[in-house]
Amino acid sequence: MDVFDTHHFVLPLPQGHRFPMHKYQLLRDAVAVHLPGICWHEAPAASAGELALAHDPAYVHAIQTGTVEAHILKEIGFPWSVAMAERACRSVGGTIAACRAALFGAEAGGAGGMAANIAGGTHHAYADRGSGFCVFNDVAVAARLMQAEMARHRRSRPPLQVAIIDLDVHQGNGTAHLFQDDPSVFTLSLHGERNFPFRKERSDLDVALPDGCGDDEYLHALDLALDTLAQGFEPEFVIYLAGADVHEGDRLGRLKLSMDGIEARDRRVFNWAWQKRLPLAMVMAGGYGHRIEDTVAIQLNSYRLAFEFAQRWQSLGTFASLMPLVTHAASTKRRDWHNRNA
Ligand SMILES: [Zn+2]
Repeated sequence: MDVFDTHHFVLPLPQGHRFPMHKYQLLRDAVAVHLPGICWHEAPAASAGELALAHDPAYVHAIQTGTVEAHILKEIGFPWSVAMAERACRSVGGTIAACRAALFGAEAGGAGGMAANIAGGTHHAYADRGSGFCVFNDVAVAARLMQAEMARHRRSRPPLQVAIIDLDVHQGNGTAHLFQDDPSVFTLSLHGERNFPFRKERSDLDVALPDGCGDDEYLHALDLALDTLAQGFEPEFVIYLAGADVHEGDRLGRLKLSMDGIEARDRRVFNWAWQKRLPLAMVMAGGYGHRIEDTVAIQLNSYRLAFEFAQRWQSLGTFASLMPLVTHAASTKRRDWHNRNA
């Protein structure tokens, strides 16, 4: 399984800042120890042109040059620095690269089927501004770029159909807004009804959960949501935001999922995608445990499961690299693809 890593690109924060920056290094180390089979890559930086697929170029420029307005920086919650801009670009680049590795497999130098970015999931960022610890919307940029790259393979077919499954405890408001008029990207968000952002956007499917929601209620809601998604949309690719902030020990989450409940959540998503043979890229999103070890343990567990499913993809062999081109297609289209590439 290919994993893209940004831990060298630390965001400098003032002492006492409430964003737990060091969780990324801890998670990277834990994953490296427990899953030695992972193939590590340094996350590349997304270019200004790539970022402009989902962002206003003036906003991209302002972040890159440190000329972003003070009220926007305040809403993001991080002070600007060269390192902050670099990390923001790397975090998007990691998600792009994970999507490519999952979707295009060997063609993109990856194993195919399943890949991850050990950062990303910055779903509160809008086209023209960041918010809530999110500078750029990595998932939105990556979804648009994968559609553009896939379009080269299939000139006359509709755009790649992307499902964004956002199980961070906060609503994916930026993502919902960016794709609100785009029928080729399905946005699903399960989130705490009374949590940030207090003004919600409209996803294709929103599931608002009450404070204190536990495992059973959550998993039932997730099952229904995944069924609903599949009824109204035929995804070809999945981007999964595996936020750890649904945990009962989270400072910001307000829900009460146990570690086992979160493992069951991840398994449901991976199984759902696997049964449809949909390539999947996982990004981390939030996690603000009272005990940072809990956040790391939850996300390590997400990696364990992802790795298990990555191995199933490997058992398909070279088929993995062809999957995205044929998953959605009838057998005649499958023949067309082989003919074109013969
Ligand atoms: Zn969150």
